[in-house]
Amino acid sequence: MAANILIVEDETSILELIALNLQQAGFNPIRAINAEYADNIVKETVPDLIVLDWMLPGMNGIEFLKRLRGNSLTKKIPVIMLTAKSEEDNKIMGLNAGADDYLTKPFSPRELVARIKALLRGRSPELIDEPITISELNLNPQTHQVQVDDKLIKVGPTEFKLLHFFMKNTEIVFSRNQIINKIWGNNYDVDERTVDVHIKRLRKNLAEVGKNKLIHTIRGFGYKFSEK
Ligand code: CA
Repeated sequence: MAANILIVEDETSILELIALNLQQAGFNPIRAINAEYADNIVKETVPDLIVLDWMLPGMNGIEFLKRLRGNSLTKKIPVIMLTAKSEEDNKIMGLNAGADDYLTKPFSPRELVARIKALLRGRSPELIDEPITISELNLNPQTHQVQVDDKLIKVGPTEFKLLHFFMKNTEIVFSRNQIINKIWGNNYDVDERTVDVHIKRLRKNLAEVGKNKLIHTIRGFGYKFSEK
């Protein structure tokens, strides 16, 4: 699931530049050209993060930030403030008002994306779907592809979830019950045997590229994903 990121910026060229870069980074950008408009959007859907310009016509960024922080529904949304002002006291004012991070214009879009990822990683890591490569095995959560070099491996949806989970949690032994909770959730009636069936399928998929040994059976406990 892509993170919804609200961009509040009155300069349309900057707004579009940010939106484009966020989209390329796998996020879902939501555009607002002023704080009043952003306020209406936030009332409908709470975004996962807000990139907020300081100088806005009408309600300015700081006023909007204070409004967000004063509302129980929005007070925890991570906010990165943008400003042309580089003075230290403005930075302190922004952070005092509750901004989580701060970028001075002109900034590089790559830097902004890196800061967004850092904030989301701390708050909601599940929203960052970055490709992972371990021992030449590459998994891309956005394209749902698994490959080694140019060779694509066919993997079913459950096996994909399993592999993604393992690759994000290498070297950790998981019991079959823990795997059930992580992959199927508590609401499903799945028994431990089902886990073994899907692990077997996943190993078969990985065997096509000689990577089946990455999944280790830990006798009496469960499974782990390890390069060793
Ligand atoms: Ca502005």
